[in-house]
Amino acid sequence: MQCPRCSEEVDELQTINADGKRKRVCEDCVGQLQEQDEIADAATSAMKGMMEYKGGRR
Ligand SMILES: [Zn+2]
Repeated sequence: MQCPRCSEEVDELQTINADGKRKRVCEDCVGQLQEQDEIADAATSAMKGMMEYKGGRR
């Protein structure tokens, strides 16, 4: 099987949910997509923290 994301030839594709869509990707891509999710979450938290920080300085 070939991973549609990285075009890597793999034994098995895994199904994951990303951006509300089901994707079939290889294990490496699963890890990368999950990492992106975590980064997106972290960015949201960082943004909130920044707003609180600005509010506190005033
Ligand atoms: Zn892949």
